[in-house]
Amino acid sequence: MAIGKVAVVGAGTMGNGIAQVMAQAGKQVLLIDLSRDVLAAATAGIEKSLGRLVKKEKIAADDVPVILGRLATSTKLSDAGDVDLAVEAVSEDLGVKQRIFAELDAIVPAAGILASNTSSISITTLAAGTQRPDRFIGMHFMNPVPVMKLIEVIRGLDTSDATTDAVNELSRALGKIPVPANDFPGFVANRILMPMINEAVYCLMEGVAERESIDSIMKLGMAHPMGPLELADLIGLDVCLDIMVVLHRDLGDSKYRPCPLLRKLVAAGHLGRKTGRGFYTYE
Ligand code: NAD
Repeated sequence: MAIGKVAVVGAGTMGNGIAQVMAQAGKQVLLIDLSRDVLAAATAGIEKSLGRLVKKEKIAADDVPVILGRLATSTKLSDAGDVDLAVEAVSEDLGVKQRIFAELDAIVPAAGILASNTSSISITTLAAGTQRPDRFIGMHFMNPVPVMKLIEVIRGLDTSDATTDAVNELSRALGKIPVPANDFPGFVANRILMPMINEAVYCLMEGVAERESIDSIMKLGMAHPMGPLELADLIGLDVCLDIMVVLHRDLGDSKYRPCPLLRKLVAAGHLGRKTGRGFYTYE
């Protein structure tokens, strides 16, 4: 199935990156969020990101208006009535995602595919709330989307081969590499990454080392490009906590217990880069 028009629901950290790479690949994109202000910030973020690509000579300056011309925004899901694919990238909350997919299921044409960018929530559960579990799939982009090559592709129990093939083909058209994972909490990426980040927060809370030392040890010692605490700030501490809560609840093992310091920072609204303060502070 050819995918020409895409709706991206949620214009936060991930949604605007997903919208950008779709538009760069020639897709017509409808970016949807709750408010005009969020959409304006997302569009400005995409323009800035494209500007960086021009500076690095990855795209031509003339390409920018063409790419932006493929991007429309809306505050209404009902505008997604003519898309081939809807990618959901709203907050990591089962109830919120289920409500959105119930609505999208009634709006997106019957042949269209519904995809979730969830970091940890069951694709099978989300698919079961729709009338098209065969055309439902996990499309887990990595942050920052325009830079990172991986898309973790997660089939729900009833996802069809045709849906998987279409999403793999689209992923390659975006210049990404689709890699399959099965539908378990956190899939592969966050099953491994989040407990490491959570453990780094325990190290900080227990005074095992200062934040800079924790990050330096993991960068210099394990050849990680970013330390776990700076990476958590990039991902968003609320997103990290939400994922740990899913791993803890759905795998039922105390080793996934979210660190109390992570909970405290989220409760204080210190969510990382997006709020200017997390483990570090940002201009
Ligand atoms: P975010 O908080 O930056 O953005 C979420 C956006 O969803 C916000 O703009 C919010 O206004 C919008 N939203 C909430 N409810 C909505 C609704 N009912 N209709 C329309 N829009 C709504 O979150 P994010 O970091 O972009 O994460 C989004 C999803 O992507 C989550 O499922 C997360 O787990 C996943 N994810 C995040 C990362 C990361 O590094 N941040 C990486 C991979 C996957």
